[in-house]
Amino acid sequence: MKKMTAAAIYARISSDQTGEGLGVQRQLEDCRRLAKDRDWVIAGEYVDNDVSAYSGKPRLAYERMVGDIVERRIDAVLVYHLDRLTRRPVELEHFIDVCTVAGVDVTTVTGDVGLGNDNGLLIARITSAMAAAESGRKSARIRRKMLQNAQMGKPNGGANRPFGYESDRITIRDAEAAIIREVVSRYLDGESLNSLTRWMNEKAVPTSGVADSWSVRTLRPILISGRIAGLRDHHGKTVGPAVWPGIITPEQHETVLDTFASRHIERRPPHLYLLSGLLRCGRCGNTLVTTSPRGVRRYTCTRTPGSSGCGQLSINASMLEEFIAPAIVLRLESPEIGPVLVARAEPGQHPEQLGEVVRAQQAMLQLAAMLGAGELTRAEFLEARKAAAARHARAVKRLDRVAGIRLFDGWASEGAAHMSAWQQLPLARRREIARTVLTSAVVQPRPRGARVLDPTRVELVWAT
Ligand SMILES: [Zn+2]
Repeated sequence: MKKMTAAAIYARISSDQTGEGLGVQRQLEDCRRLAKDRDWVIAGEYVDNDVSAYSGKPRLAYERMVGDIVERRIDAVLVYHLDRLTRRPVELEHFIDVCTVAGVDVTTVTGDVGLGNDNGLLIARITSAMAAAESGRKSARIRRKMLQNAQMGKPNGGANRPFGYESDRITIRDAEAAIIREVVSRYLDGESLNSLTRWMNEKAVPTSGVADSWSVRTLRPILISGRIAGLRDHHGKTVGPAVWPGIITPEQHETVLDTFASRHIERRPPHLYLLSGLLRCGRCGNTLVTTSPRGVRRYTCTRTPGSSGCGQLSINASMLEEFIAPAIVLRLESPEIGPVLVARAEPGQHPEQLGEVVRAQQAMLQLAAMLGAGELTRAEFLEARKAAAARHARAVKRLDRVAGIRLFDGWASEGAAHMSAWQQLPLARRREIARTVLTSAVVQPRPRGARVLDPTRVELVWAT
């Protein structure tokens, strides 16, 4: 008979998600449904109330669940989203170790993380590093409230009625919606914004603001807004579906953005962007160039005379950089950085430091093998790995220094502080580091209907 999978459900409501935040009940219901779909038995439900996963305060249910994983009472963990589980990178590493040893995998309602494979691990680590950086940055209550409104898709206040909608900001005004649809369709067919504003003025379409006629400056923000697609924008980024209906579809909105980006290429020195030169188009392999339509930086595949680009792919630069930066920092801290340094050091030079890096590397590999063979307990492994990792980090930094590679120059801080150290480095240094550890990153086309950056869209090719 097939052994039943015993699943643990973990749910948490934190104080930073007040009022209408995603309640525990909803998290539990979704997890229970997923367990049922997979034919899993629920071995236990672990719920922490009002404790932030970032604060470092003890979470009793979480601790109890970890204990049950260690004692092999659980085969799988179900959680609504990874940020419910932990938002602290150190804690995540511990959790991964515990799960690896116990052979437990984590499944989320919002998408399989699969801690058991390399890509899943990377995504989990990046999610956690990003969440930590985010928690550290945000403190002002007002900003949080605005973001929350945005995430719930509620409209912002404002003096003027949005064009296309009634003054409740939710009900579509049909006559204006028809204009918007026509403008979008003609714009996508290649008509210029200038020509479209002329047409609107000839038709005497009234504006919804103070201006008495249409100009590119009034039409452009409407055309490229997520609002008309029923999406809630916050600081120039779409954060999710809005409470009001769309006049065009989210797919049309994305096509507008891509078209807009490829038509308005900004000529400026490429060194202003962290990843310029490193990104490839997943459709055609062309190198992405930098653009900034509406002041929003984007990496774009362009179709211009003399380039072979397909012109059909574009990605928000800040969003991509916020995703890749923690990955670079984690890569710097990982054992894989040793060979990169060894490869870059002059052959025959610094034999002593090179040797130490290689030995430290081997020690870490050996520990993993011993853990796999059951020669070490979990506690012994964790203890030994900590020491080996510290030895490796020291060796790598020493080689970096004597060989003048400068990868770790300015990295005085350790561990969790690395992310903020990174943010304080000048852009030139961050670019230099990015170019050392990353060979390229391939950006895949956006899946239909996706509204936020899907980590699986980006394939990182590390230098080895
Ligand atoms: Zn392309």
